[in-house]
This record gives sequence, structure tokens and C-alpha cells, in this order.
Amino acid sequence: MGEIRKDYFSDRLVIVSEARAKRPSDASAKGRRKCVFCPGNELQTPPAELVLVERKDAIAVMVDQIEPVKGWTVRAFPNKFPAVSPSRMPLPKTDFEAEPAYGFQYVIVVTPKHNLSFHQVPVKQWHRTLTAFQELTKRLLHKEGVQYVYAFINHGEQAGASLSHPHLQLITFSATPPLIQEELKGMDGLASNTCKLCTVLEKELNGPRLIFKAEQFAAFAPWASTHAYEFWIAPTIHQTTILEATSKQLESTSVVIRTTLGALARVLHNPDFNLVFHISPRNHTEGKLHWHIEVYPQVTKWAGLERGARVYINQVPPEEAAKRLASAIRH
Ligand SMILES: [Zn+2]
Ligand SMILES: [Zn+2]
Ligand SMILES: [Zn+2]
Repeated sequence: MGEIRKDYFSDRLVIVSEARAKRPSDASAKGRRKCVFCPGNELQTPPAELVLVERKDAIAVMVDQIEPVKGWTVRAFPNKFPAVSPSRMPLPKTDFEAEPAYGFQYVIVVTPKHNLSFHQVPVKQWHRTLTAFQELTKRLLHKEGVQYVYAFINHGEQAGASLSHPHLQLITFSATPPLIQEELKGMDGLASNTCKLCTVLEKELNGPRLIFKAEQFAAFAPWASTHAYEFWIAPTIHQTTILEATSKQLESTSVVIRTTLGALARVLHNPDFNLVFHISPRNHTEGKLHWHIEVYPQVTKWAGLERGARVYINQVPPEEAAKRLASAIRH
């Protein structure tokens, strides 16, 4: 079992977990291993707790029984090599702050197609993935001791992906992660009339950093992007968590994800990237967040300045990044 250690002075957290080192990797030896996320290899993962199967005119929601569900379109199961675990065995007493790395970790396989890159995943399939993510998040927030559900995608080796089959990861925490806490403090997102992201969106929707706009969702390059070509996707109406999004709104989010990742792949030739979801924590005593997605293309490496001082150099002005991404959408 792993543990979460807190830094001597700051709120920085570190999960110390030896189990993670055992996880398989195909990122550096493509195709050498049999992919455990591919159809036909379902028995190599823990039983799926949420499986979407395409029926004639609807999507059926199923779970793996003794036999795994075949013919799935999206499949979610517990991570076989989690950094956190549902066990809460007390840790031996030490001189410094630590607690058991308690939590749940899931994988959502986005498509049965191994070789589909994220920018090629169709809107319909993103919509199903976000629906599965929404449902799983709802269930996890009902579990005892879960304060936060964090979801992310690692695409490519530079972004830390160990398996290349397109998948989304979910991990829960018993406290709100530090970066989310910082955003909560800065955003004051209790209501739309006080929410700073609402105010930011009003300006960005008509400004030089707007990339793309769909029904109630927009993508823009943030004013102080820490990564070249970074962009954020947010609902243009005040919404504090993806759980509030209707199916139609999830479809609109999917259109924006598909369109912007397509543009990113065209402008930078399918770069590695991380895509993360920032939603409100379960308990609202720390405030609420206007939920959004952040995409960090990995085109330049963080170095001493970024790692040691949290000061970032971005060689592509966000206005220029937005212009290039927007024109890749138009053409
Ligand atoms: Zn695969
Ligand atoms: Zn807002
Ligand atoms: Zn954020």
C-alpha cells in the first residue's frame, strides 16, 4: 500500500508507491506486447464495472459478470496497478506528515480501436466516454472518504503514457489536490455573478485568444499559458462540475474536444499532450470551481526555472497559438 507524504514546508503532496513500478508499458516497444485494453483481452484487466455497448438505436450500460461483456464501445475498470488503494491501514508513526494513499483508480478505454489517435476519436465516441466518466464520478463521490475525483489523459511518451491504447484515467483523493485548491481560492466560483472564470470567459469569447466556440462551450488559449499551445475548454454558462452537464452539453463538449485536438494535431503533427479535468470537490467548504478542461501540449521541456521556481517560459504567445489553432479549424 502506498502513502501520501506532505512536503516539510508547503502543501506539495507526493504519493510514494512501489506498486506503480510494476505496471506494463508498451510506449517504447509498440506492438511487442499484447495490449490489455484491446477487445479480446478483457480477462487481463480487472472486471469492468461500466461497459457501454451499442444497440440498434441506443447505448446499453452493462457490467462484466463471470464472462466479460463483448462488443463494447467504451469500457471502465479498476486500474490494475493503482497508486492509491481502498485500504486504510494506519501508517507507522514518523517524524513527518503522511497518510495512507487511500482512494480508487479507474481506467476508461475510450475506443476499442487500438491505433486510433485521440484527435481521430469521433465526437460520438467522446460523448460516450464523457458519459461513462460522468457516471463513474457520480458513483465515486458516493464512496466514503472521497473528496475529489481527478481525471486525466496522457497521450504519448513525453506526456507520461505507458500504454498507447487511448484511455482516460480517474483517481480519487481524500483531500482536494493543491492546484485545485489554488484555483478555488482565486476563482470564488460560488455563483456566476462572483465567478472569475465567468468574467474571464466574457472577455476571452470576444478576444484574440478564442480558438473555437460551440453551443455553450468554448476553447481559448489562456492569457498566462504555462505551455506553448496550451488551451482550456469551459462551459460558457456557469457550471461547477461535469456532473451538472446534460447529455446535450456533453455532446457539445465532445465537439469542442474533437475539433481542438484535431487542430492541435494538424498544427504540431500530433504532439504528445496531457488533458486534465478540473471540477469542484465534493465538499464545498473550500468553494466551488467553474469546471473546465486544460490541455498541455508537450512541445518544450520544463527545465530548472519551471521545476525549481514555478516560473514558466512560453515561446509561443497565446494569441499566436490561438490564431494558428483557429485557422487550422477553418481550413
Ligand atoms: Zn489496444
Ligand atoms: Zn463561472
Ligand atoms: Zn484549472
